[in-house]
Amino acid sequence: MEPIRIVVAGGGTAGWMTAAALARFLGTDFRVQLVESQEIGTVGVGEATIPQIRLFNQSLGIDEDAFVAATQATFKLAIEFVGWGAPGERYMHAFGDIGRDSGLLAFHHTWLRGVRESVAGPLADYSLNNLAALADRMQRGPARTAKALPEMPYAFHFDAGLYAAFLRQFAEAKGVVRHEGRIVDVRRDGESGDVAALVLDGERVIAGDLFIDCTGFRGLLIEQTLRAGYEDWTKWLPCDRAIAVPSARAAAFTPYTRATAHGAGWQWRIPLQHRTGNGIVYSSEHLSDDEAAARLLANLDTKPLADPRPLRFTTGKRREFWKNNVIAVGLASGFMEPLESTSIHMIQSAVQRILKLLPGRGVTQGQRDEYNRQADYEYDRIRDFLILHYIANRRDEPFWRSARAADIPDTLAHKIELWRGAGQIVREGDELFTEVGWLQVLVGQGIMASAHHPVADGPTAAQIAEYLDLIVKLNQREVAQMPTHEDFVARHCAAPQAVAA
Ligand code: FAD
Repeated sequence: MEPIRIVVAGGGTAGWMTAAALARFLGTDFRVQLVESQEIGTVGVGEATIPQIRLFNQSLGIDEDAFVAATQATFKLAIEFVGWGAPGERYMHAFGDIGRDSGLLAFHHTWLRGVRESVAGPLADYSLNNLAALADRMQRGPARTAKALPEMPYAFHFDAGLYAAFLRQFAEAKGVVRHEGRIVDVRRDGESGDVAALVLDGERVIAGDLFIDCTGFRGLLIEQTLRAGYEDWTKWLPCDRAIAVPSARAAAFTPYTRATAHGAGWQWRIPLQHRTGNGIVYSSEHLSDDEAAARLLANLDTKPLADPRPLRFTTGKRREFWKNNVIAVGLASGFMEPLESTSIHMIQSAVQRILKLLPGRGVTQGQRDEYNRQADYEYDRIRDFLILHYIANRRDEPFWRSARAADIPDTLAHKIELWRGAGQIVREGDELFTEVGWLQVLVGQGIMASAHHPVADGPTAAQIAEYLDLIVKLNQREVAQMPTHEDFVARHCAAPQAVAA
């Protein structure tokens, strides 16, 4: 029997992550082909990730140090938010646990009680990742100084173009056939409306049974061909432009991403081995492109290495991610600004969903509906988390005032109300961000709970103080023996060019 033909349209991060995973997990009953056009190129940004990327690489059997060296990567323990509450303020959203739960009592209730008794320090003091990040330290594996301490979760900053090239090698070695060329036409089945084949320049025809649309913002198959529709979220997340520029490697080789708010959006800073990635995200209604470029360049900590690169986007998602026999992955499926480094993760989770719900020689509407339901849920919950960063601000600029005044989704309003009134944070279903993630951004943005769980009233104030103090001391002792981030990279996974430089 002929193999089932899967055609991946597009060879950016989304295309090659998809092709690599399909090649790794599907047997000889499937044939995977990928079409990309060097002439069109990729979006070329996307450098910060979240810890789940490690699972993706591990599932492919990729050696972590080889991957880090090949992609000029560094380690990421947290994101620092500067100026989001008010200018001059800063807080961390660090990966991993904060403090230690006591039985069923989540740590933040003990901390809230400690705050009320004036015996607690800032929330971040109880996060191992935060302390290590601020001290520019890095280590892998179990804690060295105390069993009670958690292992530090981490992600990477990397060059997304190099990652795609790395995965291309992997996928081609596993049998993926790559076609270089521009897709100039899409043929459809007259009866079902399904996509039957891609027509490439030079009159080459790539026929398929299932098509994965990884063509980026243009959504060549899902939108331009199938008209799946787009839900625009600009009313909640009004930034619609970005300008990216690389700059020289900085002396501050921080194991964390920095997101600094400015008058009409924010700016990112991402340290890699060979350079620093920078970009400004802004609302075109509040800032001109020229002003944005000037602001970006004025706020670099090292000299720029290329001309600034402008990008336009509309925040939102496809109304259908899977329509007919086309599934959109990556930027073709929708876009949310990289404030919490979620896009590459959403490629990963889309690939996992595809593998779980994979159609064989026929697809049911039920499979499509289930895929779309799960993708919708993921998008909506991440959207709420991003909006949270904007709404609770005390800044004065019109952009921030209108962010404060905007209506918010009911799902987010419910989360905030639950936290404010009872100190409760509930992670729903498979939503990406954990209670601890929500906690750090709620507190960081200055939204405090007015109550805590009654069980946290059990210990005396002195006992609470002692407990909190012990956690800080254990964390500090662990961090003190960690190598610096720079030494860690140099010892385990230095990229050859970075060493030479
Ligand atoms: P693209 O990179 O645009 O790739 C599209 C592919 O389709 C290309 O190979 C192109 O050649 C091909 N193609 C298109 N049309 C045709 C055609 N007609 N014929 C043949 N081939 C075609 N994500 C993160 O996780 N972390 C971040 O820090 C982050 N920062 C970002 C910052 C900005 C400003 C932006 C815009 C995005 C950021 N992202 C980030 C998102 C991340 O860049 C993307 O999710 C990721 O690069 C995937 O892009 P893609 O592969 O979907 O699309």
